[in-house]
Amino acid sequence: MSKYWSPLTASLEPYVPGEQPKDKRYIKLNTNESPYPPSAKVLEAINGAVNEDLRLYPDPNCEALIEAASAYYGLSPEQTFVGNGSDEILAFAFAAFFDPKKPLMFADITYSFYKVYAKFYGLEPQLISLDDELGIPLDQFHGDGHGGVIIPNPNAPTAELLSLEAIRTLLEQNRDVVVVIDEAYIDFGGESAIALIGDYDNLLVIQTLSKSRALAGLRVGFAFGSPELIDGLNRIKNSFNSYTLDRLALRGAVAALQDEEYFKQITDKVIATRERVAEQLRGLGFRVTNSKANFLFISHDDFAAKDLFLALRERGVLVRYFAQPRIDNYLRVSIGTDDEMDTFLKLTKEMIGHS
Ligand code: PMP
Repeated sequence: MSKYWSPLTASLEPYVPGEQPKDKRYIKLNTNESPYPPSAKVLEAINGAVNEDLRLYPDPNCEALIEAASAYYGLSPEQTFVGNGSDEILAFAFAAFFDPKKPLMFADITYSFYKVYAKFYGLEPQLISLDDELGIPLDQFHGDGHGGVIIPNPNAPTAELLSLEAIRTLLEQNRDVVVVIDEAYIDFGGESAIALIGDYDNLLVIQTLSKSRALAGLRVGFAFGSPELIDGLNRIKNSFNSYTLDRLALRGAVAALQDEEYFKQITDKVIATRERVAEQLRGLGFRVTNSKANFLFISHDDFAAKDLFLALRERGVLVRYFAQPRIDNYLRVSIGTDDEMDTFLKLTKEMIGHS
């Protein structure tokens, strides 16, 4: 606390990101990054942009990237927005579409940034409890008086996916407010709600290059929706920072969308590894939610998640532990390379006394 802080600063409870320790080299299975490098074509494009043009501001309208992203999904540029990672777009969306006089509806166990942004923008959360299996209880995501809905699909950290039909039901139940579907993990086996944008002008779909395109360090995210929603985001963006993406990010992101073959190769690999590791963990007595993301959400009745987390950390493997009611006996484990996952499995077996 400082006497120089505004009341807003003093009231915030900032998000705590997954740790990025520097003390030694860990096997990092704690922040859902890709274990694979970015496409070689992306690196080439970024290298090509390292030249004296860096003295010039980047294109404030991000035209080339918006063109590439809209064409990729069969949309128009007026239905497409780009930002510095999906976190920035989420912040813009909270400011653009949610009325502080009305509560914002989201799950009690979900991406923890939603609570942080709600506080920042003076929005009261209307929390919907996940069901006994940690699934999204769709029938409860409606009502009178709320000012909007936000759901990650798949949900984080539970990794469970809603079908396109379920998303359509959600939209039918919430016709008068903006529904944000955060698809950070959609490319690992899900079906994107982008297909529904033509039918619902209140739908905003947010995606990122951070996970399935192995570019968390480049900070590039997208939003897709009706032209009126995209206009709303642009009003907010241009009131904060009109040069959202830098020249290197703009070039790298276009190249990422053009290398479909590599994208398919690394997402298929992550999915195959996920299925293999999930099966082995079930064999060891772990409960493993049905993941369609690049991470697993696991718990074991006989072993405390926090102890496993600390023991793995001690042995050089970082996973994510959440000290949060209902999920404090779960671990979130990002999918690494096959070798990394074999080390994780070997250590886990040793700790729980399986040979
Ligand atoms: N949404 C969800 C559900 C996430 O888990 C993350 C990653 N932590 C993000 C959005 C943000 O991703 P980025 O800003 O890297 O695009």
